[in-house]
Amino acid sequence: MDKLLIIDDSAVQIEFLRSILKEDYEITACQTAEDGLRAAKEGNFSLILLDVVMPGTDGFTVLRELKETELTRHVPVIMLTSLADVQYEERGLVLGAVDYVAKPFSPVIIKARVHAHVQLYRYQMEFKKQATIDELTGVANRRHYEQMSAARWGEAIRFNLPLSICMFDIDKFKVYNDTYGHPAGDHVISSVAKTVSAHFQRATDLFARYGGEEFVAVFIGNDAQSAFDHMKAVRQAVEDLHIPCTSGISPWVTISAGGVSVLPKSEDRYETFLKISDTMLYDAKRFGRNMVVWSNERGEQWREK
Ligand code: GH3
Ligand code: MG
Ligand code: MG
Repeated sequence: MDKLLIIDDSAVQIEFLRSILKEDYEITACQTAEDGLRAAKEGNFSLILLDVVMPGTDGFTVLRELKETELTRHVPVIMLTSLADVQYEERGLVLGAVDYVAKPFSPVIIKARVHAHVQLYRYQMEFKKQATIDELTGVANRRHYEQMSAARWGEAIRFNLPLSICMFDIDKFKVYNDTYGHPAGDHVISSVAKTVSAHFQRATDLFARYGGEEFVAVFIGNDAQSAFDHMKAVRQAVEDLHIPCTSGISPWVTISAGGVSVLPKSEDRYETFLKISDTMLYDAKRFGRNMVVWSNERGEQWREK
């Protein structure tokens, strides 16, 4: 059931709306702007019904904050008011409300509008998901990676945290495809993605399919040594899937990984370090594959075996 949030100072109003909508939605109600904002950020709401006139912080202020907060920015907001003034309506719409209903409203109209906007929100979310997810593997796609890596880079600078970039690639995958066929190859790409994905489950972890049989991970908070150790465990986990192959590297499908950890400064550029991580991957291939090669910003290197 979709979740709705009602923010209205009037308990009578809340009960009225609840009686109209409770059959179709799971409803949370708040009687102050502050409680409403908190609930909006914590709950996963599909729509917010927001009263304009409330004592203290008014609905417009709440709306502005909802639209400025990443977590709540996309949630549709319908403004509720008894002010039959076109200027209020305009203001709400300009601030990003999707609709506006004047009190007293008919149950039929409010129900129809809520249904329509919740439906639209669902389509938007589905579309957004499809635009950011790689179809074969279910992990983030290249496009999502491009957007999110820039955001992570900015956060690392702002919070003065080390950031690691890791590129990795399935070893001798051309041989695998040639031996077992392309559909079997696709299956391997999926299995590898699934296994690696389980090692990048923190809220700030970014793991994406970079293209073909190549992946990229961006993560925050580890120094070079711990990032290197983490990727070694990931490499091992892939080998431990025991997917038979004829690469000659191992009896099983393996990956090579190259990475770098850096404490980024505002004058640094992400691309510089992405390139280093790519060079480390190239080294891992050159030094024998099924291997992790890591670097820090001073060019010190860690290498398996
Ligand atoms: P290396 O160890 O140097 O990485 O060798 P490699 O054979 O893996 O590297 P190469 O870049 O020569 O070949 C990559 C292969 O990956 C070739 C291509 O057919 C295969 N590949 C790329 N994308 C897909 C995909 O979506 N599905 C399948 N099945 N194969 C893919
Ligand atoms: Mg009110
Ligand atoms: Mg490869």
